[in-house]
Amino acid sequence: MDLSKVSISLVVASCDVIRGEVVATTLYPNNFIGELPMFDFHTYYIKEESCLLNVDMENLLPSYPKHVKLSVGLHPWNVSETWQETVASIRKVASRDDVWAIGECGLDKVHGEPHPLQMEVQIAAFRAQIAIAEEVQKPMVIHCVRAFDELLMLRRELEASCKREDREPQPWVIHGFRGKPEQAKQMMTKGFFLSFGHHCNIETLRWVFTSSRPFYLETDDLHLSVCQIYEQAAHHLGVDVSRLVHLCDPRKTLFSHQNP
Ligand SMILES: [Zn+2]
Repeated sequence: MDLSKVSISLVVASCDVIRGEVVATTLYPNNFIGELPMFDFHTYYIKEESCLLNVDMENLLPSYPKHVKLSVGLHPWNVSETWQETVASIRKVASRDDVWAIGECGLDKVHGEPHPLQMEVQIAAFRAQIAIAEEVQKPMVIHCVRAFDELLMLRRELEASCKREDREPQPWVIHGFRGKPEQAKQMMTKGFFLSFGHHCNIETLRWVFTSSRPFYLETDDLHLSVCQIYEQAAHHLGVDVSRLVHLCDPRKTLFSHQNP
């Protein structure tokens, strides 16, 4: 019997009965705890499922359960006068084996109504983290609100410098993408990957699904099991959850070179 199929059917069956709750451990045989086939691309909470846990430097622990991998970064909301110190400490931990990505970091023109000068500081902090991701050769998890022109400008800048050095830039994933299909198309054409959460644009999700490019699913800051997000996406796409389990697993694409 194929055990991976068993675990998928258990997850799907349990989604119906545990809506709104973190997956109940009693529903799974012990050997599946922390090894559920669904991957949560961006979360703030350690749960049963495999995930990329978003941590900031203040909350970083020396170690985590094996199914929890980390993205470490300075969120644009938290960029302050001391950002250089924070970025220096991110650089120190970026090579850790359980750190799989740099982020979330990026740009936000809405939160706190940032002054143009503050946007310049956000860009500087983001640039410094792009440099770290390139140094340690790890993808980036990006938060972007109404700053897509600046984001594209920074991507072009990175691509130009990589071209001069004859190497490929690291992949960038925009988390919690809520844009319309045209914007998704624009970003994907420029080489970005997208991750969708509870509030995504369904038309965009459908468009990305038909593009056959990998995409990812996440709970972000919601206290949900990611299997609910997978179930919701599968419903909107009219496909079986098991199809998404395969397609949306970043361990098969972005992180295929990392030790599980
Ligand atoms: Zn975010």
